Parts: sequence; C-alpha cells; structure tokens
Amino acid sequence: MKIAVPKECAAGEQRVAIVPEVVARFGKLGVGVLIEEGAGAAAYQPDQSYTAAGATVVQDAERLYREADVVLRVQPPTIEEAHRLREGGIVVGFMAPHKSAELVKVFRNRKITSLAMELIPRISRAQSMDALSSQASVAGYKATLMAAYRLSKFMPMLTTPTGTIRPARFLIIGVGVAGLQAIATARRLGAIVEAYDVRPDTKEQVQSLGAKFVQMDIQADAAGGYARELTEEEKRRQQELIAKHVGQADVVITTAAIPGRPAPIIITRAMVAAMKPGSVIIDLAAESGGNCELTKPDKGVKFHDVEICGPVNMPSTLPAHASELYAKNMFHLVALMVKDGKLEPDWDDEVLRDSTLTRDGDIKHGPTRALVEGE
Ligand code: NAD
Repeated sequence: MKIAVPKECAAGEQRVAIVPEVVARFGKLGVGVLIEEGAGAAAYQPDQSYTAAGATVVQDAERLYREADVVLRVQPPTIEEAHRLREGGIVVGFMAPHKSAELVKVFRNRKITSLAMELIPRISRAQSMDALSSQASVAGYKATLMAAYRLSKFMPMLTTPTGTIRPARFLIIGVGVAGLQAIATARRLGAIVEAYDVRPDTKEQVQSLGAKFVQMDIQADAAGGYARELTEEEKRRQQELIAKHVGQADVVITTAAIPGRPAPIIITRAMVAAMKPGSVIIDLAAESGGNCELTKPDKGVKFHDVEICGPVNMPSTLPAHASELYAKNMFHLVALMVKDGKLEPDWDDEVLRDSTLTRDGDIKHGPTRALVEGE
C-alpha cells in the first residue's frame, strides 16, 4: 500500500499533511509514503528529513497521483487535481463540503472515495483523528497572541516602582476548542478573562481555566456537542446582554460557529463604537462570515479606534505544530484502513462511514448530496 502527499497549492497554506515522524509510523505498518519535492518546506520540514524517515521524495507530481492508493492533503484538492487522482482511489483531507459542489461532482463521477476531516464523528474513539479540534486549538492560541501583539497595553498586572499597571481584560465569545485555548493562553499571559457560550456545559470548563463565565438565560445545545442557531428573539436578547461585557473589554475574541451555517452576528457596529479606544477584536469566525458586523475576512478594519481583525486560516500561521498535529490525526484515520500492510477499509466502521463524502459513484454525506444533487 502506498500513500502520497502532494504539495499544498492553496494561497498562503504553509501546512503539510505528513511529517517525518508519521512517515516512520506508517513504515512500521508496512505502508510506503511518496511525497512531492518541497511539500514540507513551508512547515520547515526539508525533503531530507522525509527521506531519512523512509519516504520517497518525487519531483513528478503525476507519478504521485498514479501510484497512490491514498492521497493525503490539508486543503481540498483543486478541480484539476481531482482529475489527476486515480479513478477509484482514496483522498483524505479537509474538503469544505458545503462549498465544494463542483469538486464533489468530480469525485462522484470519477468514483473517487473522499474522506472529509470535517465529518469525523465526535466520539471518544475518533478523538485522535479530530483535525477540526487540533487545528482549532492552534487558532485559539494564535488569536490571543495576535491580540496581545496589537494591544496598546500590557497583558498582566505589573507592580512597578512607578505604580501598578492593571491587567488587560479579555472577553471570549464561543467556548469550543478554539475559545478554550484562547482563554488558557490569555490566562497564562496574566489577563483577566470572561467568556460566554450558549452551551451551559461550558461554564465549568471556563471556570476551571480561571476565567469568569458570563451567565445568560439562553441555552442552545444541539447534537454532537455543537450549538443550534438562536431564534431572532434570542439573538436580540443576547446582543443586549453581551453589550456591557464588550464595552468593558480590551480584547474580544469571537469563535462562535454553527456547523454548515453562516456565523452568527453577535457584535454589532454600535457595540464596537462603544468600546474603549485601542481595543482589539479578533474574529476567528471571519471565514464563515464573522461574529462582528464589521469584520472583513483576511483584513484589519479600524472603527472608532477599535481594531477588528478577521484572520483566515490561522492554523497555517503555526505550520510546524499545526502540521504535526494534523499528520497524527491523518495517521490514526488511515491506520484504520490498513490490515497487514494492505488497504482493507471496513466501510461499516462508524468513523470511516461517517467521514466518507463520496464512494463508488455516490455522495454518501446527506447534506452534501442535497446540495449537489438538489441543484
Ligand atoms: P464550533 O467551532 O462549532 O463552535 C464554537 C463555539 O461557539 C461552540 O462552543 C458553540 O457552542 C459556540 N456558539 C455557537 N453559537 C453561539 C452564539 N450565538 N453565542 C455564543 N456562542 C456560540 O465548536 P467546536 O470548537 O468544534 O466544539 C464544539 C463542542 O464539541 C465542544 O463542546 C467540544 O468540547 C466538543 N468536542 C467534542 C469532541 C469529542 O468528543 N471527540 C471533539 C471535539 C470537540
């Protein structure tokens, strides 16, 4: 069995789907790895390290696609790449299924089996494969550092001969994986942190990190540990309640997301106008529309002396560790399909079944099928 890792080609993508340590682990399973020359360069993994770990570095991308049983990627393949995949072969990576209708059609028509990292079920057995979580924790960590860098103040309390400096105040909205990591990082840097989520379970998690939970009477748990969308009335009430906390914060980090839906708008223009000059908003939901009305994806906006940053692909800004975690997620998923060095997937296995986007000429994921075939 051979797996292949082509160079990522999306603009700004610095991660790579495999690291040398994981090549060696595949080797122990009897699985060979082909990697395109320079594929790890942007994550500071030179070709020699892959060779030393037992991979074959190839210049010719055509050969990769021709010989691979399984292709591993970070970003979804382009349409052109999808045409280069071997008919009937397997490709694994983030697939952004809700915005990849054309790609999914190519997979279906060419009978390619595609596994989407976004679809890995959130069950204990699959935690080691959960790339959404591993990458979200990178994003949360980096969001706090980005805020610290832009802030015109110290983060911790400082007692100096000249006087005492008050610690910075953070408000984290959305306490999933990214939010928790943002809280932990802000606490380590000495900030006072408040956090808010519509799932009541998060209260204890927030408090265990030494932050204060902002209590509201809105509960919006949904299946799989995710949140449901709020009603119009709930949204209005939420905005009313959160406004005071936004006004007191030096930094607001927002991460609120609802799977497959645009991000909810939580911070309005009026709330930003009422913030202290020099405050910073880091909107990690920028890619799915943003939690702040003023967010522009991949841009910084200044409004009433408040800086609003809408970073996209934050995990790529920490490429070494983001790639290492991602590669380990990939390893655990692919290892499920290997028996005695041979590719033998059991498609009835819950993890493989749920993460399958397309197989045997069918779109297996219901919402994507509705999107593509309902067109
Ligand atoms: P996510 O990225 O989908 O959303 C981020 C957070 O935003 C969530 O906590 C959500 O409740 C919150 N949110 C949504 N709408 C909001 C609103 N209007 N106002 C405030 N907050 C709002 O979430 P995620 O990081 O992927 O994690 C979701 C949950 O899944 C967490 O509880 C996490 O611990 C859990 N999880 C479980 C597993 C597992 O069991 N294997 C793995 C990963 C995550």
